[in-house]
Amino acid sequence: MTVSNETSSVPVPKPWVMGIAPYVPGRATGDDGRPLAKLSANENPLGCSAKAREAFVAEADMSRYPDPGATLLREALAAEYDLDPARILYGTGSDELLHLAAGAFAAHGDEVVYVRYGFAVYDIAARRVGATPVIAPDKDYGTDVDAILSVVTPRTKIVYLANPNNPTSTLVSRDEIARLHAALPKDCLFVLDQAYSEYLEPEQDDGGLELAKSQDNVFVTRTFSKIYGLAAERIGWGYGSAAMIDAMHRIRAPFNVTTAGQKAAIAALHDHEFVAMSRAHNAKWRTWLAEEVAALGNHGLRAVPSATNFLLILFEGDVTAERAYKGLMEAGYITRWLPGQGLPNALRITIGTEEDTRGVAAALRTLVAGA
Ligand SMILES: *Cc1c(COP(=O)(O)O)cnc(C)c1O
Repeated sequence: MTVSNETSSVPVPKPWVMGIAPYVPGRATGDDGRPLAKLSANENPLGCSAKAREAFVAEADMSRYPDPGATLLREALAAEYDLDPARILYGTGSDELLHLAAGAFAAHGDEVVYVRYGFAVYDIAARRVGATPVIAPDKDYGTDVDAILSVVTPRTKIVYLANPNNPTSTLVSRDEIARLHAALPKDCLFVLDQAYSEYLEPEQDDGGLELAKSQDNVFVTRTFSKIYGLAAERIGWGYGSAAMIDAMHRIRAPFNVTTAGQKAAIAALHDHEFVAMSRAHNAKWRTWLAEEVAALGNHGLRAVPSATNFLLILFEGDVTAERAYKGLMEAGYITRWLPGQGLPNALRITIGTEEDTRGVAAALRTLVAGA
């Protein structure tokens, strides 16, 4: 890519920045502006831990900068997961961590790999630094380790992989993650985005944190936005080698996690009961909704097997995903239709409260019956 030398009367953005398709956030309102049951952003329908809310509300001092080192939060995370607190990085959501990885390890001319239906932020993070995105094809919406390895070259500086993945909800096994890592070049950063890992059962653990403890090229990211229900506070954390974390510290914003957010996150981390309740609620209603969708299989509906707090529902019959998206909106539910991510035939629906989950299933049944 060449940058023009011609003079301009206005500041000219970098050409690769103008090649970025802006992130499309999950909506909370209908086309007419009316608030709807929000099943579009994978938030926790049970809210957050009461203890986290108390810690948040109790933090009244807004005049001082937050602890730039997030010391107590790092110590709490280190104790919880048996980590070295010095190797924990924190961010304004894990989104910031994904950007820091690209900012520190990729540049113009480098390649950044992710799967075809990968998390939208990877594309933005790669293009922002002028790197070239390289897409690995999927296998029936799931992550295909061999396909990833087939596009990795000596120019690949980062492989981003969400496990489980968003928007497909699929999970790659521990053995496959280990096989992928073992085959990557040692100088290729493997960013394993575990935004949904707290929704997994212990036997589904992909081994990412163990890998990050011992391997210099693995960076695991986690978030407080999903099961912990602190999305508004924007808190993520990541674990990598000391050298990797040092590089990313150099480019992060100095005070990137708020004081109240740090305190709420510590309380949320320690409220195991709330996390277990959220996981159980999700498992129960995800299974229920998946069965409802399976019952509509003769109308061409199919849910991708999910390891997350959402279902990706494919519409392969008379009712299109677009029609279902609009119909659900009319019925009071906002879901995620993703034509911009190559999924015009699918809706991503967050597992909500019992009432909302039953409601969305009833609305789907009505829609297909009327088709
Ligand atoms: C939601 C999500 C994140 C992170 O969100 P933050 O709120 O920025 O922590 C990261 N990766 C994936 C795959 C997600 O779905």
